Amino acid sequence: STFAEIDLGAALNDNVRRCKYVRPTPVQRHAIPISLAGRDLMACAQTGSGKTAAFCFPIISGIMKGPPAARPQRGGMRTAYPLALILSPTRELSMQIHEEARKFSYQTGVRVVVAYGGAPITQQLRDLERGVDILVATPGRLVDLLERARVSLQSIRYLALDEADRMLDMGFEPQVRRIVEQMDMPPPGVRQTMLFSATFPKEIQRMASDFLENYIFLAV
Ligand code: AMP
Repeated sequence: STFAEIDLGAALNDNVRRCKYVRPTPVQRHAIPISLAGRDLMACAQTGSGKTAAFCFPIISGIMKGPPAARPQRGGMRTAYPLALILSPTRELSMQIHEEARKFSYQTGVRVVVAYGGAPITQQLRDLERGVDILVATPGRLVDLLERARVSLQSIRYLALDEADRMLDMGFEPQVRRIVEQMDMPPPGVRQTMLFSATFPKEIQRMASDFLENYIFLAV
């Protein structure tokens, strides 16, 4: 099977070629069509499985095809309204996802910004002010940005939780729940959620049933 069999559109196909990806990995082959079809997804996938592209491609494709963000109702002039949020447990993983997402979104007009803890917030605030479609963030730093009203999640249409089991192991469940609760504003049912985890313990199952709607379970 090849990427040509997945309907990613011309711009993303060019970027797949630029990345020198020839054939999709198993998680990409299965997860991308499910997500392109608009379904929620819980995928068991390990590091190195190609999961970053599996959640980035449908998000970028959806943002390119979709309407622009609804006019924000709250927040100030300096509040950013991303359309997609990718939550990841660590600074290193967030940086990697950001780097890949930028390659995947090359010449698509989709803007990617990263915000992680353990680094000064100043540059991240400047990046957010320049405009953001996809925000890659660690939970703690994102809660900080929400408290400062520098980010609003009321426009989020795509949510990807990467390495969800690791986020729980690191004690981020309260922050993750606070973050997701901020998206459950009206209009309901417009958000598409993807949950990626290497393991599927009870806590992750509970998260999946709390955060996902009518989802497809994928184990590769
Ligand atoms: P990930 O699991 O998303 O961290 O990806 C692991 C590594 O595999 C990264 O360096 C990706 O750039 C690379 N990769 C992902 N998908 C493909 C693919 N379809 N073909 C070749 N390399 C890939």
